[in-house]
Amino acid sequence: MRLKKTLRLAAGVIALAVVASGCGGGSDKTASQNAADGKLTIGIKYDQPGLSLRNKDGSFSGFDVDVATYVAEQLGVKPENITFKEAPSGQRETLIENGQVDYIVGTYSITDKRKEKVDFAGPYYVTGQSLLVRSDNTDITGAESLNGGKKLCSVKGSTPAQNVKDKYAQSVQLQEYDTYSLCVEALKAGAVDALTTDDIILRGFAAQNPGALKVVGDPFTIEKYGIGVKKGDTESRNKINDAIESMLSSGAWAAALEKNFGSTGYKVPAPPQVDRY
Ligand code: GLU
Repeated sequence: MRLKKTLRLAAGVIALAVVASGCGGGSDKTASQNAADGKLTIGIKYDQPGLSLRNKDGSFSGFDVDVATYVAEQLGVKPENITFKEAPSGQRETLIENGQVDYIVGTYSITDKRKEKVDFAGPYYVTGQSLLVRSDNTDITGAESLNGGKKLCSVKGSTPAQNVKDKYAQSVQLQEYDTYSLCVEALKAGAVDALTTDDIILRGFAAQNPGALKVVGDPFTIEKYGIGVKKGDTESRNKINDAIESMLSSGAWAAALEKNFGSTGYKVPAPPQVDRY
């Protein structure tokens, strides 16, 4: 009996020690140092079809996954040596600051506010905030129709949620969830009237729910997707920028977009220009 208790206590102490050392958690090495050791931990979304999805068999697919994998290969890391980690919108800066991921490829808009905490390579894609509604909806047609207290879903820590708070707080009720897939469930169930985030994310959900959901209106912000790295890690950022430029110019970028969105009638846009700020 006493032995059991001692063992239980010891186990508890070990568990606490593991939690304590895991807090902050990650490696002290930079992304390029970890890549030189042959491995990388990359933050991505798990629930955004077309962009970044964790499939039932545990594999990952989508445009962001292809970008993440291409960049890793350019840094010398094989796909099988990548560990993907979920990076929800509201946790991205913290995951990078704590070294729990080497970089994030997760529909991550480059903003001045975020640049106070992390640095960005890229942009590797440019999109804009838009609206997703149920297919039978007729009164939400674009940003100008956001009025009358409509219930709008978006995600905590995202730029579209912030934009709604800044510009439409008087006219709509914002509901902030942890992920966009939760917003999609709420939209399908009739608990919210619309979901707002980047056009390309919404197109992925619309394609997954044909006949049930549709994207309406024109994009009303500019969202430039960057790859988030630790602030001040210029070496890794430069190498990732080189990798993005190679993906853009080699045709791999357009091919990845075509592969993941081609079947939805999507037209591959002109490639963006990497900004080495
Ligand atoms: N691109 C926007 C952002 O970084 C919205 C998409 C997202 O939440 O990942 O906040």
